[in-house]
Amino acid sequence: MQTEDFNAIVERRLGKIRETLLAKGKEYSGEAGDSLHNFKKGQKMTGRDITPAQILKGFKLKHDISVDDMIEGQSKVTPYLIDEKIGDVICYNLLLEAIFWESIGEMPKDKEKCKHEHLIKYALAHDRNVIVTECTDCEQIIHTEIIG
Ligand SMILES: [Zn+2]
Repeated sequence: MQTEDFNAIVERRLGKIRETLLAKGKEYSGEAGDSLHNFKKGQKMTGRDITPAQILKGFKLKHDISVDDMIEGQSKVTPYLIDEKIGDVICYNLLLEAIFWESIGEMPKDKEKCKHEHLIKYALAHDRNVIVTECTDCEQIIHTEIIG
């Protein structure tokens, strides 16, 4: 496939994902405006000790099976199925990313935009003569120096 065609597929898909998750996503957020509402409600409705990620895994399984059927030749690959099933799997993976970020109480940080304001210095465990300076915001190693 030519780069131009590949890029067109990626751009089209990114546009569709934006439309689905950002515009239509509002419909699924519930009154509290929580984008993960469905998974948390699902968690409550089971009445079991289960996480929102596990609820999502159940929803996502249906779409993963559909894609697997396409890969394994159990479903004929059609424009409709490519469009629907690939879109579903990407959306569910993005929702899973949001669940994971929320579960650790953090937001992703853009390493390129980090100003490296919070630095820590430590010695390497296997070589105490190497001092590493690391940014605690983006976890990037800023500097290493050899001492002694
Ligand atoms: Zn940083």
